[in-house]
Amino acid sequence: MEVWVWQQAEDLEEEYKLNLAVLSGKGGTGKTTISTNLSVIIGANYIDCDVEEPNGFIFLKPSQIKSKEVKVDYPVVDSSRCTLCGECVKVCQFNALANTKKEIMLFEKLCHSCRACQIVCKHNAITFGKRVIGTIEEGQYYNVICKRGILNVGEAMAVPVIKELLKNLPAGVNLIDCAPGTSCNVVSTLQYSDSAILVTEPTSFGLNDLKMAVELVRSFNLPFAVIINKYREGDDRIQSYCKKENIEILGLIPYDRKAAEAYSSGKMLVELPEYREIFESITERLREVFPWN
Ligand code: SF4
Ligand code: SF4
Repeated sequence: MEVWVWQQAEDLEEEYKLNLAVLSGKGGTGKTTISTNLSVIIGANYIDCDVEEPNGFIFLKPSQIKSKEVKVDYPVVDSSRCTLCGECVKVCQFNALANTKKEIMLFEKLCHSCRACQIVCKHNAITFGKRVIGTIEEGQYYNVICKRGILNVGEAMAVPVIKELLKNLPAGVNLIDCAPGTSCNVVSTLQYSDSAILVTEPTSFGLNDLKMAVELVRSFNLPFAVIINKYREGDDRIQSYCKKENIEILGLIPYDRKAAEAYSSGKMLVELPEYREIFESITERLREVFPWN
């Protein structure tokens, strides 16, 4: 396959970093398709924060993958010291502890590792252990660094994996593919972001959820702009809303069978010349709206 990756990373000051979050108010708008294709055209690092379903690597297929485990702390009760007073159970805001009168039981997946239980225990009966809840992977697609977090199946808390993933981002432009919706996973991601791209589709649900995403990025005071995916000629409801709200539209990606076929076979849209042109024009607009050189 032809390499289209721009030399952007080399143009930048060594430690320059711009974290651009890509989010959508709802799932299924094509957020990952847009993030992966834009990463290739811009030459930006691709960071998959949709840790419950990270599927960007299916399209980018990075090589030389390194991985490391993400661990969280959990309390361990020493029964030889514990008097079953129940103070730790009372203080836990997450209902992660229960007093059965025979032992203090931990529901580890509810534990937020806050250590309040240890602080209130007058008998020094609580220490902390570590358990694995997920993995961080890092690989390379030409000069694009690809990173993703993977939350283990059955785990309830994605935020520690997201935070670990975003802790040491590489220099350059980082396109951060957020979880869908406006949940705390997205909020945690936005805390590490400088600007945002909102991906939407021209449907009633798309518009409704775009409004929620706009409210969220505005609450963070982040500069942002919109990309309309699956655009059909004549349906201008998103454009009307953006005009009213004074929101920049970076581009429209048409609803097309060819795009759906490429997506379902794991291909990048930029392999199709007409889509490559669209992504190049979105990138030009992006550089004007969020200048990084
Ligand atoms: S606070 Fe300490 S002593 Fe009391 S029940 Fe909890 S672990 Fe046991
Ligand atoms: S560390 Fe915090 S969340 Fe976990 S059991 Fe103790 S008090 Fe509850």
